[in-house]
Amino acid sequence: MQRRSLLKYLSMFTGTGVYSLSFSSLQAAIASQGKVEWGYKEENGPEVWGELSPDFNVCQAGQQQSPVDLQGAIPAKLPDLRLSYQECPLRIVNNGHTIQINTEPDNRITLDGQDFELLQFHFHYPSEHAIKGQRYLMEAHFVHRNKGGEFVVLGALMQKGKRNEALQLILESMPAIAGPEQTIAGVNVNMVQLLPVDQSAYQYFGSLTTPPCSELVRWIVFQQPIEVSQEQAEKFAKVFTSNARPLQPLNRRFLLESL
Ligand SMILES: [Zn+2]
Repeated sequence: MQRRSLLKYLSMFTGTGVYSLSFSSLQAAIASQGKVEWGYKEENGPEVWGELSPDFNVCQAGQQQSPVDLQGAIPAKLPDLRLSYQECPLRIVNNGHTIQINTEPDNRITLDGQDFELLQFHFHYPSEHAIKGQRYLMEAHFVHRNKGGEFVVLGALMQKGKRNEALQLILESMPAIAGPEQTIAGVNVNMVQLLPVDQSAYQYFGSLTTPPCSELVRWIVFQQPIEVSQEQAEKFAKVFTSNARPLQPLNRRFLLESL
């Protein structure tokens, strides 16, 4: 690949024009989201998301959708990523699509000198991203946003292994049916336990993996999976049988990986 086109591509990540347009459509879509019942069943699942609402059109028509199969990546020096996560009170919600933990404002990442605040994290079963065609048992997504409305999502793949203590706290407090956020008294979760030690990663520009599928996400998916037990995955799957969107074509995007 030509160096110039790679640099142009990387600059898309830091430019604001790309995001500002999409961000307003995202806000509009979020405002109307409550009216449209989307899910993962045949009648309301990923294959028909684009038809459920005009706000979800990009789910079908978009060319930069997520998740993708992580293969054929171009080795590159990825921007410096620094995590600043604190132990967090467990504010947990079953939103009907996943288990989500809403986080406090003092958690952030710094990417290339820019701060992105952590808003929430949640889980998918099975994983949404695949590495060289292989999907994992589960995947955790940490959703961040900066003041300009740009999103960075960190993805941690989860493979079968030993029990994960942070996930265990979450599973023990997980509401079985959809409802409002609950704060679990006296329970703090250490989010770092849900991330791999090695920060080598894949990086590409993509979308939210749920409606409205807005294409304003810089994805960083760690190469090293973390471990969760089979029993933990099964406990999650009892509430969410499958909440992973199928793989989307990479199209004309560059997929980068740590050198
Ligand atoms: Zn997600």
